[in-house]
Amino acid sequence: MALIVQKFGGTSVANPERIRNVAKRVAKKYDQGDKMVVILSAMAGVTDSLLRLAGEMAETPDRREVDVLLATGEQTTAALLAITLKSMNYPAVSLLGFQAEVVTDCNYSNARIIDIGAHRIRELLDQQNIVVIAGFQGCDAQGNITTLGRGGSDTSAVAIAAALKADMCEIYTDVDGVYTADPNVCRKARKLDKISCEEMLEMASLGAKVLHIRSVEFALKHNVLVYVRSSFSEEEGTMLVNGNHDMERPVVSGITYSKNEARITLKGVPDQPGIAAKIFNAAADANINVDMIIQNTLAGGKTDLTFTVPKTEFKRALEVERKVVEEIGADNVLGDEGIAKVSVTGIGMKSHSGVASKMFSALAVENINIMMISTSEIRISCIIEEKKAELAVRTLHTAFGLDKE
Ligand code: ASP
Ligand code: MG
Repeated sequence: MALIVQKFGGTSVANPERIRNVAKRVAKKYDQGDKMVVILSAMAGVTDSLLRLAGEMAETPDRREVDVLLATGEQTTAALLAITLKSMNYPAVSLLGFQAEVVTDCNYSNARIIDIGAHRIRELLDQQNIVVIAGFQGCDAQGNITTLGRGGSDTSAVAIAAALKADMCEIYTDVDGVYTADPNVCRKARKLDKISCEEMLEMASLGAKVLHIRSVEFALKHNVLVYVRSSFSEEEGTMLVNGNHDMERPVVSGITYSKNEARITLKGVPDQPGIAAKIFNAAADANINVDMIIQNTLAGGKTDLTFTVPKTEFKRALEVERKVVEEIGADNVLGDEGIAKVSVTGIGMKSHSGVASKMFSALAVENINIMMISTSEIRISCIIEEKKAELAVRTLHTAFGLDKE
């Protein structure tokens, strides 16, 4: 007998028919003798439409009340699933975040889980109940309702699985697993039967939007076995594992890309101590996320400094840096929104050399110019022209031997 946490995403509970299917899936497992905890998202589109409604009432809706509102999406699906299971004569009980003792900080709309008490969940499980929990929500120490950030019900599921020391956390979604590349871009992409949490973290932050990134952090930290699979088929999915025990794995596991990138260059920056600090303090003060940075030294005590920011923060970043340019006496500031980042990720890089050269050579063959490069222990990223992003993904996928036959 195992303790299983199952999480169903918005498309999996998008209408009564699909909720009924979820109920059948849960019931089947329960009939096999497993203890079942089910975490739900809101119906697809509901969180968006709630946000729109709030926006109609006020230009900047009060953040506390927005979370009270958003939490109703998951309250609805939790209740509907429990109603369905009970009508099928299964003992089910729904719980909201606070009833499951999901305690968070008080950062509304993007709260972090601090602790999960889970007394009530354990009690209900001991009494043979199927426990259905509203994902995406918790409450702060004062009892205010909070939400965990968009896509946060994955994190609810993994965190609750960790608190309960569940045998497995199954994430049911509308894709059937994690692929070597986005199948919409690369027809030869293959489904991975497993991937390490470390790789998943790198790939999640690079645009593979299968899992909420904090859920993977939880899985890594608390050693939760996470299995991603489709709620629309019986196909095998992708298992998230800790570490790399499998020596046969390829050096590179996946190719990702992101078009949410923009580049800012400060020309003729005085080459003196404290200048870089000024440039990046200004960005940090404006809450702008800087990613890659390169600096070229020119003659005459001046340098050019280039960095990337999310495209969504580009205009703000440009404004902020214009002021800095005046202040520090640099020549001018240039921007470029037409860029993308492509990355190769693989835990095997830790013990293999030649990955970077292979990547650069493959891009060169396709005449793709590399503007910036950054690396981590298990990833190499290149900034290239945006319109070449898809070609780059396919090229690298082939170069690293990831194409399916
Ligand atoms: N319903 C929330 C959202 O749409 C949380 C989730 O689906 O994970 O972001
Ligand atoms: Mg999701």
